Amino acid sequence: MNQLENLKAQGLYRTRRIIDDKSVINFCSNDYLGLAKNETVIAAFKNAADFYGVGSGSAHLICGHTKAHHLLEEELAEFTGRERALLFSTGYMANVGTINALVGRGDSVFEDKLNHASLLDGGLSSGANFKRYPHADLPHLEKLLSKTCGEKLIVTDGVFSMDGDVAPLRELAELAKQYHAQLMVDDAHGLGVLGKTGGGLIEELNLTPDDVPILMGTLGKAFGTFGAFVAGSEMLIETLIQSARTYIYTTALPPAVAEATRASLKIIIAETWRREKLQALISQFKAGAAQLNLPIMPSDSPIQPILIGDSFRTTQLSQQLLDAGFLVSAIRPPTVQKNKARLRITLSALHDFDDVARLLETLDRLNGST
Ligand SMILES: *Cc1c(COP(=O)(O)O)cnc(C)c1O
Repeated sequence: MNQLENLKAQGLYRTRRIIDDKSVINFCSNDYLGLAKNETVIAAFKNAADFYGVGSGSAHLICGHTKAHHLLEEELAEFTGRERALLFSTGYMANVGTINALVGRGDSVFEDKLNHASLLDGGLSSGANFKRYPHADLPHLEKLLSKTCGEKLIVTDGVFSMDGDVAPLRELAELAKQYHAQLMVDDAHGLGVLGKTGGGLIEELNLTPDDVPILMGTLGKAFGTFGAFVAGSEMLIETLIQSARTYIYTTALPPAVAEATRASLKIIIAETWRREKLQALISQFKAGAAQLNLPIMPSDSPIQPILIGDSFRTTQLSQQLLDAGFLVSAIRPPTVQKNKARLRITLSALHDFDDVARLLETLDRLNGST
């Protein structure tokens, strides 16, 4: 059997779904605050496109770094309470470039087994000793740290993207200090969503930049736009500008995307109702799912996975949900471990309580059938 046939036989073949049908309710977008289609954000994008054009024209270090990018970086630095922030064209590139700029051969990088693929790829490609610890297993990590000499970097997701649970960040920060390791957090799913002002997991846990010196965030999720950033000290950002290859050797984000993101950042800070509504929807979903005995996972975030196990069954349920008018993605290996295929439901501040109630009813009906 060739490789593609093999994937099909295991129920792991991936296909793309063309999204254009407005008649389904989307429960798989990472647009947690409903900003991707926000009028103010769209207007900022259009105005900036009129002024700057569509493309940035070159990399940041050539002539692609506009005032729009620069102001956004300053505003992101202020938002995250850090000296500086640096824009990257995608989160994938931010993670690969940052880890590669910070560690290399002879150093060691420690990663949670459930970290996002871009963090794992960054660690693997850096040439540093690559050590993965079981999910959130602090004693295991401590054992690894205590046995390692030289430069150390601990890297973790803030909110885990396929499970929805959060990293034990306070304890990780303590371990990092104790063992003189650097600590980097990818808060792609926490920024905008967690914390009083949307500052993410670090704000939620009352931690400081000193506890978590390297913060990475994406703009394609709660911000509703595109791109990513790293925030931290002056020295960190200058190091990245000099040596992060995925920063240096790629075209800058379109400036209109930067302007749209500035508009969405203002909304994230000001419109606390979006976070409150989202939390209310999460509570409603969790309580309803528990009552129906649906196999939910321990998550308080807008990522609410339903653990199915079998890959074929998960794909079938996703299709049946679509037939019923709900867009819910099937997540299968190798994105998650073998036999841990799941439906990944994501909630958004723009959902109605009625949407969630109907999704729960449908899940209950399908769960009882095969
Ligand atoms: C989405 C995501 C990324 C990648 O960000 P992109 O901007 O989509 O490349 C990185 N880390 C985590 C945890 C993510 O969820």
